[in-house]
Amino acid sequence: MPIPAQKLEQYAELIIKVGVNVQQGQEVFVTCSIDQAELGRLIAAQAYEVGAANVHMEWTDDVTSRLKYEKAADRIFTEYPEYERLKRNAFVDRGAAFIAVVSSSPDLLKGISPARIGNFQKASGEALQYYRRAVQSDQNSWTVVAAASQAWAAKVFPDAPADEAVDKLWNAIFESVRLNTPDPVQAWTAHNENLHAKVHILNEKRYAKLHYRAPGTDLTIELPEKHLWVGAASENKDDVPFMANMPTEEVFTVPYRNGVNGYVSSTKPLSYGGNIIDGFKITFENGRIVNTEAEQGGEILEQLVNTDEGSHYLGEVALVPHHSPISESNILFYNTLFDENASNHLAIGSGYAFNVEGGKKMSPEELVAAGVNSSITHVDFMIGSPEMDIDGILADGTTEPIFRKGNWAF
Ligand code: ZN
Ligand code: ZN
Repeated sequence: MPIPAQKLEQYAELIIKVGVNVQQGQEVFVTCSIDQAELGRLIAAQAYEVGAANVHMEWTDDVTSRLKYEKAADRIFTEYPEYERLKRNAFVDRGAAFIAVVSSSPDLLKGISPARIGNFQKASGEALQYYRRAVQSDQNSWTVVAAASQAWAAKVFPDAPADEAVDKLWNAIFESVRLNTPDPVQAWTAHNENLHAKVHILNEKRYAKLHYRAPGTDLTIELPEKHLWVGAASENKDDVPFMANMPTEEVFTVPYRNGVNGYVSSTKPLSYGGNIIDGFKITFENGRIVNTEAEQGGEILEQLVNTDEGSHYLGEVALVPHHSPISESNILFYNTLFDENASNHLAIGSGYAFNVEGGKKMSPEELVAAGVNSSITHVDFMIGSPEMDIDGILADGTTEPIFRKGNWAF
């Protein structure tokens, strides 16, 4: 059954009201692919409806994006355009809300030289530092949401006819963002409270370390003394709540930069830089990645780890039960927004300032001193499974179960 237009409109409304929670007179910056023009236009309309002063549409196109990777001059991938950097920074300073609609094929850049991909990730990461700091410390409201493209749907539902695959993917997206409930805004309020209850328990506990055990995984992660668990709604610099990811099922904090030891194995493929990395194992010593192995996409994984010094360390540790709605759909999305919310995960790269007490007001140097990793990249990868046990270790050495067989132990 094709997606009714009314459903897309409800989705746009949810993105504006719950996602970035646009305020009267605010500007909005939307990144959206031209094949999702219908949704993009509805998002703009909903933003104006609640009083947005201006909606800037940043239209992208996967076909010409890939063409650029195939044909453009080498230097294009090492120089991020200055005008693009200035534009992004200007919107940060104007207090804009940022909406990213993701819909690309998970292997859009398959076969492209890993060096080009790595160079571009590095150049854009460096150029967009100001913007990244603003969103990673919740100065501006931001949200990442998904839309079903044909190319992505074909990857998720390879056996279904094209139209059917797209409809199935839309339905899975709507299900995951609670749009199939009678009152989606209310469903998000309840969901937010549930995740905050877990956050509250973990913040009271003050675990010094987490210990992960599963097939292919034996990893100990120290947490900074002032770590803070967070989940669901965040607040921007004006105390306006917003939802940085839709869906979101995670509660997360920051690992102590130099306190990760052991090895961890991936449990879902990772789409990174338009390529798939799968079946990989990462080994850590005192926080630093000292070895990587991968069944698929090993070279791309190496590019990622070698982005900068900080990309050799972790910046996020996130807990997601195996009994979560996305996980129970049993769909492999090949998209981090969904797969990370179906699985315990870690992130290579920078940590979020709001994951330590007082962090939102700290300088980059103060954050490093507090144990928060700094990098121009931040990439989540999935490690959860029904076999995973996680213990919390208190400062006095007492060990308590946090996860058993992939689910919350409390
Ligand atoms: Zn996460
Ligand atoms: Zn993350």
